[in-house]
Amino acid sequence: MKRLFFGGIHPKYNKEMSTEIINIQKVLPKIAVLPMQQHIGAPCKPLVGVGDYVLRGQKIGDGEGLCVPVHASVSGKVIAVEPRPHTNGAMVMSVVIENDFLDASIVPEGMTGAAEALDADTVLHKIREAGIVGMGGAAFPGNIKALGAMGRVDTLIANACECEPYITADDYLLRRTPDQILSGMEILKAIIKPARAVIAIEDNKKEGVKAIKALLKDHPSIEIAVLPTRYPQGSEKQLIQALTKRQVPAGALPASVGCAVFNVATFAAIHRAVRLGYPITQRIVTVSGEAIHMPQNFIVRLGTPFHDLIEIAGGLHDRTERVISGGPMMGVAQKDLSVPVVKATNSVLCLLKDVNGAAENPVCLRCGKCVSVCPMKLQPLYLYRYQKAGDAEKLIRYNLMDCMECGSCAFTCPGKLPLVETFRMGKKMIREASEK
Ligand code: SF4
Ligand code: SF4
Repeated sequence: MKRLFFGGIHPKYNKEMSTEIINIQKVLPKIAVLPMQQHIGAPCKPLVGVGDYVLRGQKIGDGEGLCVPVHASVSGKVIAVEPRPHTNGAMVMSVVIENDFLDASIVPEGMTGAAEALDADTVLHKIREAGIVGMGGAAFPGNIKALGAMGRVDTLIANACECEPYITADDYLLRRTPDQILSGMEILKAIIKPARAVIAIEDNKKEGVKAIKALLKDHPSIEIAVLPTRYPQGSEKQLIQALTKRQVPAGALPASVGCAVFNVATFAAIHRAVRLGYPITQRIVTVSGEAIHMPQNFIVRLGTPFHDLIEIAGGLHDRTERVISGGPMMGVAQKDLSVPVVKATNSVLCLLKDVNGAAENPVCLRCGKCVSVCPMKLQPLYLYRYQKAGDAEKLIRYNLMDCMECGSCAFTCPGKLPLVETFRMGKKMIREASEK
């Protein structure tokens, strides 16, 4: 099959595990834990205190600068405002709400007329006020990204590649609400005014492709690109290269080559925010892996603890080795299953063994396989060696900071070297060396 970007791998995708159940269940927690940091940037300050009654959709945290608000995902009483465990491994200030299951909600400020006729400031304000971030995992504030694309971008890309194994949350959206994705694209198209708008889907999502194609006659200026399945096609740089043959320079943003990439779940959220007036209070989450009894997708209220979701999906097998927030390649292993679903949580993955697990006595065989699969054209074997030698200068010279931690090298390494962990430590070494 034709390769559209350098390197990459073909892991076992295991996506069928979670796609069988179509009418998915809604999950509301008894206790919702809503971290004030669910985006890249400055954390929100809590706007409510213990004892306050809150409505679903009410703003409970906000801040200035690179910051978007957090909203209550259930109605009920605030029972704590305190640091709680977060999927990022830190303790993060959180508003904790006891759900009264009345689901009393704010009245959304929907709109009549065409959203495409709104001026850019109004659209950006609505996106910000709805708390929208990149929902594919990046969590960058949506209004800031859209603002940065205006006047600089000729290609708007909807990313529906979902190339990580097991995860099917975006695939669910493609199949069930393709209209919302395309509507969100039309809204951003109207303010960014790109020459080209394209939705990119890997060819292992046949039903999703069919669902989008069926609606494209009503969206004549949006095209679909069906790409050969290959990990990590969903990474921004690889996707841009596959669609436009442009290469984003090291350290630069997609806008530097005239592109803006938003995940399809972000477009659906933009549709609900701008046309219907709903802030983000829920999202689709895939709960999957060999270690969970009933893998499936759920519509999950933000703040739902992982252990609630796992229980609803039938619980864990006895031999479960790890639970990951995200996919097996780039996700983050979780020790504490009280961590909540946040805006960027697309998956809770429960595995019997770690696909990128390191050997007890890892040895480099100098086979060069890691070099042949690295989509960033790095030399992982040397990066490993220089990190072990504590040589920050060589790590910089060999461009470690360009590593996007995709895990392709570790996946393919016959010596089972803990490459990604080592690279994370190497980046820390570089940062510390530059601070001296
Ligand atoms: S794939 Fe692994 S064993 Fe082979 S050269 Fe790279 S680091 Fe060494
Ligand atoms: S983890 Fe880094 S070094 Fe390894 S393949 Fe991905 S980009 Fe290359």
